Amino acid sequence: MEPFHAFLTIKCSHCATPLLRIGLSQNSDIVVCPICLKAGSYDDVLEEGAELSDGYDVPAGTQELVRRLWANRATP
Ligand SMILES: [Zn+2]
Repeated sequence: MEPFHAFLTIKCSHCATPLLRIGLSQNSDIVVCPICLKAGSYDDVLEEGAELSDGYDVPAGTQELVRRLWANRATP
């Protein structure tokens, strides 16, 4: 089963791609840019305006999911 995920209305400050929210576990959502693969904690980014980081630890399986969701997103 896929984890919770949703595209956000906010965009990556580096490439202007809509950010993707992924639920890693019940208490831990992350925000990932599907292009840069920079990431951050959902709470930090949304509530505190934190920047996405290159060094954020996104599990390999989650990176694959992000790429797949981005590739399969509805295109106009
Ligand atoms: Zn980006």
